[in-house]
Amino acid sequence: MLDTLTLLVVLIVSNLLMAGAMWITFAGRFRAGLGPWTGSLIVQGFSWLLVVSRNDVPDFASIAVATAFLVYCWSLQVSALLEFHNKPTPRWLLYGPAAIAFLIVVIYVREPRARLAICGLGFGLAQFVTGAGLLYYRVSAEKRTRLLLAGSFFVMAGGLFWLAFTAWFEPEAILPTFGPRPAPGGSLLAFYAVTIASSFAFLLMHKERADRETHELATTDSLTGVYNRRTFKELAEPLLSRARRTRGPVSLLLLDLDHFKRVNDTHGHLAGDDVLEGFARLARTCLRKEDLLARYGGEEFVVLLPGTAETAALALAERIREEIANTPLRAGENELHITVSIGLAGESGEQLPSLEGLLGRADQALYGAKAQGRNCVVTSAPQPPPTTAATAAAASA
Ligand code: GH3
Ligand code: MG
Ligand code: MG
Repeated sequence: MLDTLTLLVVLIVSNLLMAGAMWITFAGRFRAGLGPWTGSLIVQGFSWLLVVSRNDVPDFASIAVATAFLVYCWSLQVSALLEFHNKPTPRWLLYGPAAIAFLIVVIYVREPRARLAICGLGFGLAQFVTGAGLLYYRVSAEKRTRLLLAGSFFVMAGGLFWLAFTAWFEPEAILPTFGPRPAPGGSLLAFYAVTIASSFAFLLMHKERADRETHELATTDSLTGVYNRRTFKELAEPLLSRARRTRGPVSLLLLDLDHFKRVNDTHGHLAGDDVLEGFARLARTCLRKEDLLARYGGEEFVVLLPGTAETAALALAERIREEIANTPLRAGENELHITVSIGLAGESGEQLPSLEGLLGRADQALYGAKAQGRNCVVTSAPQPPPTTAATAAAASA
């Protein structure tokens, strides 16, 4: 049999210890729900302290206030989850359930059977709905973390339903709650296990988010949101290897905005940034999911088109060029028409050069496009002779 007093003391210590650990870990700089979550641990520790002091404090405090505080803990947890998703917590959700619990306990203070049945059922339902909500709204976390968190609320719901059921149908098994007889050890154990598991899951959610942000920072260009050059190379190499193995076609586009310096000079650097952002967004809409778009540097972008032969890539490049030329892009307060020059290199099968080789050829073609007056697409020759028409033209430009 589980000893109630021991369980309660363990609950008090573990809650306050975890709250303290959170405080030290985050040095008081709580964000994204860590504040309400830590608050909920403190309030829970305090509630169990009231329960333990049942013989020393008035029933009003030990039962009514403790129950209201426990329900308030749940509200704080929900608030923490909402804050994690940048959503505000309605005031009624924060204080309403605790107020209702307080009233129920006050009304049924002399009828523990009804009190425990109603509170257990109502509170259990709230926990169950929270768990279901976490799964239904797919809380922003890895699947296993989401399951751990939702599972915690379900176990809590189970413990409370058990309490309600036992209080109503076998009251002699658990009442008096705090007497010499075994008390609702199952429910207390559920509280203990769930507090640890759910806090762990909540911290895990923060860690996962931080990991995602770090990964995004490392792999994408912060201005345009497309891949950066390093990630492009990392992702492109395996695609090229596969194309070599399957003898499939691959094409590569180098895109350079025309006279972009003028945009900066005329409208300012921030307006130029807007244009870069708009350009990347628009180019993305012309591509398939498997195409790799990256910012190659400055106002130059690169696209790798796996499984796309040169002819199809040429059509696509033309479409991007036209789309950019025909769509005004926001630049600060203004809307600008800009154009893009595109160099294209396509190859297939065993002849597929290295990524550097493809980039070199597309670069030559891009020179050609600039030399031909910009706002056009130029295809590189299959072999990279140093004197293609395009390069010659570029050299004489
Ligand atoms: P061309 O048609 O020959 O490509 O002319 P251009 O003016 O586009 O080429 P140039 O290479 O002379 O200028 C590129 C400009 O792009 C210069 C640089 O200030 C600007 N640029 C590069 N990166 C950024 C950026 O992140 N934001 C902004 N606003 N401008 C950038
Ligand atoms: Mg350039
Ligand atoms: Mg340019």
